[in-house]
Amino acid sequence: MSYRCGIGYDLHRLAEGRKLIIGGIEVPYEKGPVGHSDGDVVAHALCDALLGAAGLGDIGTHFPDSDPQWKGANSLLFLEHARKLLDEKHFVIEYVDAVVILERPKLGPHFPKMREALAKSLRVPVEKIHLKAKTNEGVDAVGRGEAIAATLSPRSRRSEFGLHRKSASGGLALQGALELPNVHARSHPVSPGARKPFSRR
Ligand SMILES: [Zn+2]
Repeated sequence: MSYRCGIGYDLHRLAEGRKLIIGGIEVPYEKGPVGHSDGDVVAHALCDALLGAAGLGDIGTHFPDSDPQWKGANSLLFLEHARKLLDEKHFVIEYVDAVVILERPKLGPHFPKMREALAKSLRVPVEKIHLKAKTNEGVDAVGRGEAIAATLSPRSRRSEFGLHRKSASGGLALQGALELPNVHARSHPVSPGARKPFSRR
């Protein structure tokens, strides 16, 4: 079994006349994100994080903003596509943790619907999606209400089931296109110094 933690970040400017789409739903507000697609920071950052953890590039690789077919696109489509790519590589999404940074409006009341929309796109139980909201304490563009940002950290697990087949000699042969599980861990051995924070517990 191979575990992967991804990280994703996104920011969009906010402007009047745009719908505020976050986590796949529309939140009533006077401004919305400027972007080629619907500007959904949660969907974009999550897509990047899922693809990155699986070694499959990023959102720009799969959905270039120069492509007219993605103009005004519902970003949940990007997530669904990322989920399919992960499926093909035998990755199972275990958990998604998110922070949305926005000065106004309050997002808490909208989280249940966002979680539902994201869970549906990723085909995971809604309990696996966790959302949190922060303001930027009035600082910088986000704090002035000029932008929205999100940072996402999903965890996925690569199932070995389906990766291996019996070779003619009875041994196991790798079928997947990605590296063997734990290759990443072996190539970055933990130094004794790096273990200190844990041993001090
Ligand atoms: Zn974006």
